[in-house]
Amino acid sequence: MNSTFDNAQKRLIQMMEGLNLNKDVIARLSVPNRSMTINLPVRMDDGSTEMFEAHRVQYNDTLGPYKGGIRFHQNVDLDEVKSLALWMTIKCAAVGLPLGGGKGGVTIDPRNYSLKEVERVSRAYIRAVSDIIGPDRDVPAPDVNTNGMIMGWMIDEYSHIVRKHQPAVMTGKPVGIGGSLGRDSATGLGAFFVFDLWMKRNKKIPSETRIAIQGFGNVGSFFSIFAAKAGYKIIAISDVSAAIYRKEGFALSDLTAFQKSRKNLIDLKCESGATYETISNKELLELDVDVLAPAALENQITSENAKDIRASLVLEIANGPVTLEADEILEKRKIPVLPDVLVNSGGVIVSYYEWVQNRTGDYWTEDQVNHKLKERIEDAASACYNHSTSSDKTLRTAIYERALKRLSDAIESTGTQETFNGK
Ligand code: GLU
Repeated sequence: MNSTFDNAQKRLIQMMEGLNLNKDVIARLSVPNRSMTINLPVRMDDGSTEMFEAHRVQYNDTLGPYKGGIRFHQNVDLDEVKSLALWMTIKCAAVGLPLGGGKGGVTIDPRNYSLKEVERVSRAYIRAVSDIIGPDRDVPAPDVNTNGMIMGWMIDEYSHIVRKHQPAVMTGKPVGIGGSLGRDSATGLGAFFVFDLWMKRNKKIPSETRIAIQGFGNVGSFFSIFAAKAGYKIIAISDVSAAIYRKEGFALSDLTAFQKSRKNLIDLKCESGATYETISNKELLELDVDVLAPAALENQITSENAKDIRASLVLEIANGPVTLEADEILEKRKIPVLPDVLVNSGGVIVSYYEWVQNRTGDYWTEDQVNHKLKERIEDAASACYNHSTSSDKTLRTAIYERALKRLSDAIESTGTQETFNGK
């Protein structure tokens, strides 16, 4: 079976060949610039030492410093981090940011460690990668199971190493230490803008639109709240502990309370008194809904279950939730897929705004941030929808083409084989 990276690379190469890109460009974008694997020795609370495998992949920096989150998860491996770094390269280019693509990860299930141990792992990670990151080199951010507090520890460690205040080395940090207002909700809000624009163009009515969301982490929970506020019906949500289903839709107040509680769904009840059914993850993915929003991890809709998806739209809130084979099956079944590199780009867009604010010392209000996010992401979404309609290509191909145009123009501007051969 092909790995996640093999598939991500294959999809990218297919798109580049389809566009007839210069072969220098194809060569440059087919592989990461640097993949670093390290083992971090960390002192445990009981005095023992444990080794944690960790990675940082710097995929491409033609457009600017590498940019991308750091994931803490038990299934993190180099193949996954390379895939995520490739997608970050496309994502930043697609929404016009002057940033490249990178990603990091530590193989750890943070639920099994104390907060003090997680802090030591975070600091050990930064000590190991400090030579290759920096505000002008590579700027990490949160991802699955990492958050503002972890970014804070990492910035502190980095600032000690370089012996100066360096808030712009990481984004997604708490507001008190230079984070941007609106960064926490940015990925969910961006996903909502992209989705709502699509629904409006297709003349869909929110109160008649039923949505199932797989994953109730930062992004899934904020998306559910923005969508419910706009009148869409969230009828199923899930996390690692359970998937819950309510035919009539969950009330906005219950979704907000679930998010605030930070507890597993399995331990929660609706404050409104509403009842719900518990279903399996497979049942959630195959529910009879209008919109299925995978907001958890990669490879959730595969060649195995793509034929059983009953939603009429797939909204990729997670990175890489639909495999290459599943994409083809959904295309044949005429189920549009709103692609990850557009849908979840709100996070890195506001990360970019945070980096700009840190570097200029000029801080913006939450309204300013959200307004700028809306403008930028809707501009990319409209271009994607228009191009997909006029060229009769999938939405994914349309957004990749937009990104690849920027990347190839930049790469070609320093010469290709033809330039050097005087053609
Ligand atoms: N981890 C997020 C992503 O996958 C955000 C990255 C960033 O802000 O740099 O897009």
